[in-house]
Amino acid sequence: RFQRRIRACRYDIDQFTPNFLSIFDSLVPSEEEIAKQNQLLAALSRLINKEWPNSKLYLYGSCANSFGFSNSDIDLCLSIDDKEMSKVDIILKLAEILQAGNLQNIQALTRARVPIVKLMDQVTGLSCDICVNNLLAVVNTKLLRDYAQIDRRLQQLAFIVKHWAKSRRVNETYQGTLSSYAYVIMCIHLLQLRRILPCLQEMDATCNVTVDDNHCTYFDQVDKLKNYGAHNKETVSSLLWAFFHYWAYQHDYMQDVISIRTGRIISKHMKDWTRRVGNDRHLICIEDPFETSHDLGRVVDKFSIKILREEFERAANILQYDANPSVTLFEPYVP
Ligand code: ATP
Ligand code: MG
Repeated sequence: RFQRRIRACRYDIDQFTPNFLSIFDSLVPSEEEIAKQNQLLAALSRLINKEWPNSKLYLYGSCANSFGFSNSDIDLCLSIDDKEMSKVDIILKLAEILQAGNLQNIQALTRARVPIVKLMDQVTGLSCDICVNNLLAVVNTKLLRDYAQIDRRLQQLAFIVKHWAKSRRVNETYQGTLSSYAYVIMCIHLLQLRRILPCLQEMDATCNVTVDDNHCTYFDQVDKLKNYGAHNKETVSSLLWAFFHYWAYQHDYMQDVISIRTGRIISKHMKDWTRRVGNDRHLICIEDPFETSHDLGRVVDKFSIKILREEFERAANILQYDANPSVTLFEPYVP
């Protein structure tokens, strides 16, 4: 089971590309939906700025990183510099402001790990979560969006991987499987290894922000990199094959950490991620690009790692042998 098996990609894999691309097209949000998101952002910003003129509301997560499906919830982050108020006080006050602005279904979740205000807007029909001062998420959202501008295959691959993960129920962090954010990082890493994407954090920095103690610097003039991966002609189906074969048969779960910060595989040993510390078991290691002590695989435990690896193998085998991979891959998981 732990032997690394290297197989040749099936010769006819490319014939499935149109099917995978039509799945991608069906998941992309429409222009109209994006306009509604911006309309809600503008309305909420106006309301909040009346009370807190120096605050700023940011979109982050999948509605802003180019990896959002149609009809997904909106993630917003309020940036506010108020030394007098605690995060929980800000959340409670924010809920009051929204209530007074005639928004409905407002809930302040002050005891959650990340305290948020939830709301459903009747005008646009959109649901959203607002957190406070989580600026690292705003910056990593921009990094993902910038990578997506360089080569179209990243967005296509990540949508299909996310769709697979949601269908197979391995995109549930509270059940010990991986976040959407982690899956996108895994896709970026694969494309870096195949020289379809560069490593923006290793290039001369043109974007420079410090959040808490993290220096977030990278090259963000991505319009200059549009032809970066053009010499590589792999289709999205062969990249999908490569993605699942890597995680099913090639990744060394004992030794390796994937790192988009360096564009390479680095060792667990180097990061001192070789043993369990508290709840960090490091059973699958995915380094956060900015908060480098943070393993995005930390949610995975000894039960869920088994489920995850079995799902990677299932997907790899479907892409290798199945007559109809663009259907079988997404068959819902039935317990
Ligand atoms: P979905 O379409 O499933 O809602 P999403 O892109 O919104 O996907 P989430 O995993 O819900 O993904 O995360 C939302 C955002 O929160 C991410 O884009 C990222 O900015 C931030 N984030 C999520 N998980 C982490 C994490 N473990 N460490 C740092 N930032 C994270
Ligand atoms: Mg989200």
